[in-house]
Amino acid sequence: MEIDFKEIGLKAGLEVHQQLDTGKLFCRCPSIVSEKKPDFQFKRKLRPVASELGYFDPAALEAFKKKLTYVYNYFEESNCLIEEDEEPPKAMDQEALHTVLEIALMAEAKVLDEIHVMRKTVIDGSNTSGFQRTAMIATGGKLKIGEKEIRIDTIAIEEDSARTIEKKEKEIVYSLDRLGIPLIEFTTKPDIRTPKQAKETAQKVGELLRRTCNTKRGLGTIRQDVNISIEKGARIEIKGVQELGMIDVYVRREAERQLKLQEIKEELEKRNAREEELVMYKNKVFELTEIFSESECKIVKEKKVFGVKLSKFNGLIGKELQEGRRFGTELSDYVKAKAGLKGIFHSDELPKYGISAEEVKKAKEKTQTREQDAFVLVVAEKEKAEKALNVIIDRCVYALKGVPEETRNALLDGNTEYSRPLPGEARMYPETDIPVKKINKKFLEELKENLPLTPEQRKIKYINKYKISEQLAEKMKLNNYAKFFEYLVEEKKFNPTTTAVLLLEGITTLKRQGTKTENISEEMIEKILDAVKEKKLLQDNQLKAFDLWSAEKEKSIEWIIEKLQEAGFLEEKLRELIKEIIENNSAIIKTQGNVFSALMGDVMIQAKGKASGKDISRILKEELKKKGIEK
Ligand SMILES: [Zn+2]
Repeated sequence: MEIDFKEIGLKAGLEVHQQLDTGKLFCRCPSIVSEKKPDFQFKRKLRPVASELGYFDPAALEAFKKKLTYVYNYFEESNCLIEEDEEPPKAMDQEALHTVLEIALMAEAKVLDEIHVMRKTVIDGSNTSGFQRTAMIATGGKLKIGEKEIRIDTIAIEEDSARTIEKKEKEIVYSLDRLGIPLIEFTTKPDIRTPKQAKETAQKVGELLRRTCNTKRGLGTIRQDVNISIEKGARIEIKGVQELGMIDVYVRREAERQLKLQEIKEELEKRNAREEELVMYKNKVFELTEIFSESECKIVKEKKVFGVKLSKFNGLIGKELQEGRRFGTELSDYVKAKAGLKGIFHSDELPKYGISAEEVKKAKEKTQTREQDAFVLVVAEKEKAEKALNVIIDRCVYALKGVPEETRNALLDGNTEYSRPLPGEARMYPETDIPVKKINKKFLEELKENLPLTPEQRKIKYINKYKISEQLAEKMKLNNYAKFFEYLVEEKKFNPTTTAVLLLEGITTLKRQGTKTENISEEMIEKILDAVKEKKLLQDNQLKAFDLWSAEKEKSIEWIIEKLQEAGFLEEKLRELIKEIIENNSAIIKTQGNVFSALMGDVMIQAKGKASGKDISRILKEELKKKGIEK
């Protein structure tokens, strides 16, 4: 469907959450998310607490009604008492704070004078404390998207929640490894007017964040929420878009959904539908068990079946709202979320699934469904069925008004499903365990003068100043190692091309071979490069050193060198071997002169693959030169 997004008054804003590649925010655990088995588990239950104004959050109440137990997976390597909520938080991680300050300065936002850590109520058990710590860092600023300016609302830092591992009816299993990883929360004003602009804004934010070289990469490290409404619709918050490139699809599909709900509303008006006619059936459901006792449909046969009439809804339950999702799907989502039932049957789709025309006719009679009406059926014990059918009636009453405000989950195909009501506003209160932090003006000025380069600036510098190839520069400009690469070249004077190749290709090769590259720190890289430079390690044994060290990350560079020495050749040993071979062949060398290839072959055989041809050739040339023999 072609939509004129300006005509329908589309407004959207983004909220981007990006994990930072630093230690955890309020404890000193490393930010490691793994697929390992947990070291142990513990359980908690959650009770809603009224805010200081005596107000209960509606979303909190809805969650509490489900009476869930939360199970937490604990990992020794990435958790401590703070994630367990058994110990007060520590001061904010400095590196994480600095990264967010850099981002704020790059976006020309105004950094606050003081950082106040706040507690934001969390109602789904994804934080053991029942709240998430968050701190506003900056406000304002803008992004330029083509000719348009998208204003930045806020830039905050917060702790990531625990990961959902499994959702059962009465129990949710969370993994604590992710809890506490610093997230930057980057929020724009609702200045976006088209799906395309939404996508471009998301890309721009992503690029801005990556410039710091301090953001985590890969699936699950960035999550985007989209706030969206159309003029005749309502504010919807789509949660958890993982694929940045899909943002435009979500925005378009949501605009479509709101337009279709508007059409349903108009049709109901035409039919003169009235709220009273719908609500009169609340708590007055019809039992239809008898009708389906002989049904071909196994789901309803010999089960308790209840139904209710939806006055004036004939044909509307089957109306498509998003590709492959109907109004009936929407009703079904509500029933799942609010009454814990798997699904519904409705008259617009029947007869089907083995339910016969005759059974449909009887159900219609029993529920007093007339020509313009529809009916829905649920399979459950009476109390649960009544709850579910009441939920459906309430949702249909809302269809008379239009689009309900709500939070929706992003589905992978670009559609969304109901998740919960929009959370209330009164959710923040001060974190008294962490003192207020004043931002040092001088430090901020210094940061401002040394902001990370833009990707284009980086590329130009790498090509012109470092003289690396355009291809390498292109890859390096947005790589997380870009800043580190600049340090290695400028401060440590390493060769730009070989360093870039190691950082871009060497590490990737190792990852493909199964090396635990997540354990490779910048410090490790620097030490290995130093060792090569000091000729303690052969250049071509570099990757072996990384592989060995990443498996034993608490070991030292000395230990790595020793290990490699035991296992094979290192510079010194190889040189000894080469000297020995030259010595043994001194007679031939004297008579024949240029014997490089012959000696090379000899050394290769005796080195038994423990050193590369490149290293052998280099040392052999050096040693021959010392003897006054040029190749
Ligand atoms: Zn910890």
